[in-house]
Amino acid sequence: MTQTTLSDALNALASRFSGQLLQALDAGYDDARRVHNGLIDKRPFLIARCRNVADVVDAVNLARESSLEVAVRGGGHNVAGRATIDGGLMIDLSPMKGIHVDPTARTARAQGGATWAEYNRETQVHGLASTGGVISTTGVGGLTLGGGLGWLQGMYGLAIDNLRSAQLVLADGRVVTANQDENPDLFWGVRGGGGNFGIATSLEFNVHPVGPMITGGLALHPFARARDVLQFFRDVTASAPDELTTFAALLHGPDGTPLSGIIPCHGGTLADGEAAVRSIRAFGQPVVEAIGPMPYTAVNQMIDAGYPKGALNYWKSSFLRELSDEAIDTMIDCYARVPSPMAGIVLEHAHGAMTRVGVGDTAFPHRATGYNMLFLTQWADPSNTDRCIAWTRESYAAMKPFVGAGRYVNYLDDDEAGDPAADAYGPNYARLRQLKAKFDPTNFFHQNQNIRPA
Ligand SMILES: Cc1cc2nc3c(=O)[nH]c(=O)nc-3n(C[C@H](O)[C@H](O)[C@H](O)COP(=O)(O)OP(=O)(O)OC[C@H]3O[C@@H](n4cnc5c(N)ncnc54)[C@H](O)[C@@H]3O)c2cc1C
Repeated sequence: MTQTTLSDALNALASRFSGQLLQALDAGYDDARRVHNGLIDKRPFLIARCRNVADVVDAVNLARESSLEVAVRGGGHNVAGRATIDGGLMIDLSPMKGIHVDPTARTARAQGGATWAEYNRETQVHGLASTGGVISTTGVGGLTLGGGLGWLQGMYGLAIDNLRSAQLVLADGRVVTANQDENPDLFWGVRGGGGNFGIATSLEFNVHPVGPMITGGLALHPFARARDVLQFFRDVTASAPDELTTFAALLHGPDGTPLSGIIPCHGGTLADGEAAVRSIRAFGQPVVEAIGPMPYTAVNQMIDAGYPKGALNYWKSSFLRELSDEAIDTMIDCYARVPSPMAGIVLEHAHGAMTRVGVGDTAFPHRATGYNMLFLTQWADPSNTDRCIAWTRESYAAMKPFVGAGRYVNYLDDDEAGDPAADAYGPNYARLRQLKAKFDPTNFFHQNQNIRPA
């Protein structure tokens, strides 16, 4: 498309677009192009801040007809920066925050730009919830489409295990519904296949009675006790009921003290929760022990402050084969050399309802009981970037003997060797590549953890 036809197309779009169209010199452009990870510094040619489905359709059609590369932004949390693009069109869903809860049918529908804070606020009006991100500022869209680990995963499965239906704008501009009855193959694919098939303008979930008061919090111990803490975490998780999902972390306190922590969340009754966390509260001599009844929405925001927008981020993650003593010792040895107090190593317990779904039932294949290990490296000073990235790579390499084959697609970084999607999807990859060929044969949506069309 020539310069004149592109500007004609842009003018035509501007005449009917409900949201905002932003280019480099427009007020708000700089803010809109930024995502969560401050390391990502891309400059789209155009940012289409959509307000409704028609805006998304028009933006997709403009990109296709003008040969502009597309990135789709939901909550902007993808650490690899896949929500934005240099020179192309960023289709920004973040103004699309409508959420409708039907308490009788126990369903909730969220538009593609909602965050978990917004979703939980609405669903909790009715004492309802479904599994969502641990940090409230993460987007419902990207997190769900990749699988969605969260505090309620033992009780109600992953975010995708609660997904009833999605409305998608495909690469050819068509608007389709994907659920068990309509386009069931596409519905299988969007439950884990990320943004590969289309733009999810809305997602409908089953919601369940949760809280509003549940049991959560954290117990922080000296780093010198990390070995005992992680072994205790292994014991607690070995017999945890579905309602109790627990994470462990090596981290620093706000004053820069290195610590080891256990972070439980029990989504059942307060009496059951009190009993389930008793041993965690009683363990060792914590420097902080703040576990007890709190609103579900507060649990969801409890550690938000540790993940500020604009911090520099580089992550690596894999499911562990087992949490052996050797794995624990290696992890502690790595963390003793961490170059930034904002960086952490997190272990996420996979168990319960999320593991009772078949490997091939959805595109997300990691259904075994166990632990996901996440090097969540964050730092503030740009001069520390090389050290932080090097530490993450070296530490991840040191943990290689303990990791299994599976990787969680939503935690993949941008510099993986080989075909990281193959690791992320394992036995489901071939079927996903066939689906990609059916719904997006030209790989129009490729600014994501890309599944190449078969
Ligand atoms: C601080 C922090 C905490 C996190 N906590 C968790 C957690 O508890 N559990 C967990 O599972 N993951 C977690 N993640 C990882 C998270 O799932 C991924 O980063 C996810 O991609 C974020 O989705 P988003 O919409 O915020 O991101 P974005 O960067 O906007 O999008 C991520 C990807 O999804 C695509 N996408 C987003 N929305 C749509 C849509 N509506 N339709 C089509 N494609 C879309 C984008 O194009 C992009 O490729 C966390 C990340 C961060 C930074």
